[in-house]
Amino acid sequence: MNNKSFNRIIIISNRLPFKIINTNGEKKLIQNSGGLVSAILSLSEKKNDYINDSSGKIIWIGNSDYTREDFKEVDNQSNDFDIYPVQIDKQVYEKYYEGFCNDTLWPLFHYFTTYAVYDEAYYENYTIANQLFFLELEKIIQPNDFVWVHDYQLCLLPKLIRNKFPEANIGFFLHIPFPSYEIFRLLRRKWREEILNGILGADLVGFHTYDYTQHFLQSVRRLLGYETTLRYIYTEDRIIKVETFPIGIDFEKFENASKSPDVQKEIHKLQNTLGEKKLIFSVDRLDYTKGILDKLKGVKYFLRTYPEWHKKVIFNMVVVPSRDTIPRYANMKKELESIVGQINGKYSNLDWRPIAYQYKSLEFNEMIALYSYSHIGLITPLRDGMNLVAKEYIASQKHNQGVLIISELAGAVTELGEAIIINPTDSKEVGEAIYRALEMDQKEIEIKNKRMKIRLKNYDVFAWTNDFIEQLFLLKKDLKGMQVKILNNIVEEDLINHYKVANKRLFLFDYDGTLVPFSKYPENAIPSNDLIEQLSTLSINSKNLIAIVSGRDRTFLEKYFGNSNLILIGEHGAFHKFPHKDWIGQAEKNDDWKIKIRELLERYTNRCNGSIIEEKEVSLAWHYRNSEIEFTSVRYQELKEELSEFLNYDHSLQTLEGNKVIEIKKIGYDKGTIVQKLFLDSEQFDFIMAIGDDKTDEDLFKVMPKDSYTIKVGMTVSIAKYNLKAQSNVIDLIKKLNTI
Ligand code: UDP
Repeated sequence: MNNKSFNRIIIISNRLPFKIINTNGEKKLIQNSGGLVSAILSLSEKKNDYINDSSGKIIWIGNSDYTREDFKEVDNQSNDFDIYPVQIDKQVYEKYYEGFCNDTLWPLFHYFTTYAVYDEAYYENYTIANQLFFLELEKIIQPNDFVWVHDYQLCLLPKLIRNKFPEANIGFFLHIPFPSYEIFRLLRRKWREEILNGILGADLVGFHTYDYTQHFLQSVRRLLGYETTLRYIYTEDRIIKVETFPIGIDFEKFENASKSPDVQKEIHKLQNTLGEKKLIFSVDRLDYTKGILDKLKGVKYFLRTYPEWHKKVIFNMVVVPSRDTIPRYANMKKELESIVGQINGKYSNLDWRPIAYQYKSLEFNEMIALYSYSHIGLITPLRDGMNLVAKEYIASQKHNQGVLIISELAGAVTELGEAIIINPTDSKEVGEAIYRALEMDQKEIEIKNKRMKIRLKNYDVFAWTNDFIEQLFLLKKDLKGMQVKILNNIVEEDLINHYKVANKRLFLFDYDGTLVPFSKYPENAIPSNDLIEQLSTLSINSKNLIAIVSGRDRTFLEKYFGNSNLILIGEHGAFHKFPHKDWIGQAEKNDDWKIKIRELLERYTNRCNGSIIEEKEVSLAWHYRNSEIEFTSVRYQELKEELSEFLNYDHSLQTLEGNKVIEIKKIGYDKGTIVQKLFLDSEQFDFIMAIGDDKTDEDLFKVMPKDSYTIKVGMTVSIAKYNLKAQSNVIDLIKKLNTI
């Protein structure tokens, strides 16, 4: 990205990239490990591509017991971050982090539903903690900063930022899976709605895989009722983009490390220790999601089924300490150590022990040596947002001879299709995969690894951050294009001034969604006395010509506006009437087409509870406003496909898509053509205003002279010049004109 797009980058995550270690009064800065840290560390090298303030550091807000001054004191000036710690009271932190984050969201989002604890105090403290992060940001945020919020600990934060800083550039990335709707809705109503709305405070929301993205969109549709497309969510006043960004690794770092002398030294050590034995390696954080017990069952199956491999393989299982003060984790550790003991007890002899188990963190070089030297990398999570170990394993293959066995339940699997893919709960499958990997042809392994490497290299961690920031930048540019269209005070003033000096004015109003709000049933959306009065006042002015340009039939329009001074245009232009004159336009004599279309619509009405067919004189409309949106949106797509097939045979018909309605009518006329014919072809106006809210009004906007005020009601993209935020703003505007 060449443009310097943002002022500064502010990262907000629960954990900071550094911690301060205090040994005997001497404080030292230690870098934390993990995917996000390496991603943002890599970003710091390229930050000048994204920000204007090239001298500035990346700002990172995260939890710590230490103060900003402490960090400054130990900062050796070499690091690229400016740290703003958020201090959280111990009691709050426990309920927020150990509680709602790790005892509610973590198990639930990883599909361990029975482990999830639902505790009001947990949630309360989760909201308090999110607020504390916000307060820290509030002190330092500046216009045009890019604020990137990370992960499930901070789902409420984007909305807190948006509420206070509506123009902020906000990204949100979830590093763990987003579960399917059925799982997500196990959260209490208030929590789940606040979490979704919280995330929707962002402009851009990112997930690791397509599935997580779709799960999120589905929850937004079903729980909040917002309309979504493949990548966008439309709320009342904003558009949010949702996109898949599988986090990458610093590929070169791992590739280069595997060739480095230090790692080669480690590899020699391994060679000397192992001799001819093949090494099967795994490294997992101690967590129930990692499937470590399932891995052991697979190992057991392998040892039992393939005795010919005894003494020829070593399973090096490294478990990285994590949360082991929590009983569930401590128990799991005990259980897995007991199974390791059983397996070793059963199969070991004087010169061979099948499992070399280690409960510790690895030094970087040691880990790369193990990645590079081992014949198999065995990765078996029951659920994992991504799993970086799998990617690092492939990137560290100096000779491309290691075989990756990976669980189909790890996010990384979508990019590592050449690996041996297993279901970790199937110990037979795991055991056989190990056997297959040991017997695999060297050439085949090499080809597969090379393919995966190319993919990982192309979408490495730099590409990941670049992609995310660039998408946000492009989105904001598009949205800015929309924002300048909002009919703000300045435009309104210009419109009023123009109105004042004009002598011949034309007003074109759509009806539903413009003059009146939508109602559950079309017959209930009737004009209020206030509206009738305001329109009447506007029409009394002899300089004004006012038309309602509607999809409604003439019976409806006649009933409510028949005696007014308004020009009425019904059924999208099929009929019209000047004040106190007769209706012009003929109902079709031959409407056989309606029979077939009605049959089709009836089929869909039966399948979609709440949908109705409205029969007009020259059209048929299918309304689905009252149907369950999630279910109906699928049916609606099907109906559109069936209709388009039908229309392929009958070119005289067309469909019009409106707000929760699809209408079928004859071609040859629309709102634009009738207005052109009735007014624009024959008369000159020095002030024209056209307002509408749905797709059929685009036909109207299209034919308007250049200097007209074309106004779209709602915040969706339109060829109209301006957007009004809500339907209620329309009557406010009319009232203002009536006071002139
Ligand atoms: N890792 C580490 N020290 C170790 C073992 C692993 O720093 O002793 C790193 C490893 O290189 C990887 C990360 O920890 O980058 C683990 O990420 P992964 O996505 O596989 O699992 P997570 O622990 O984040 O669930």
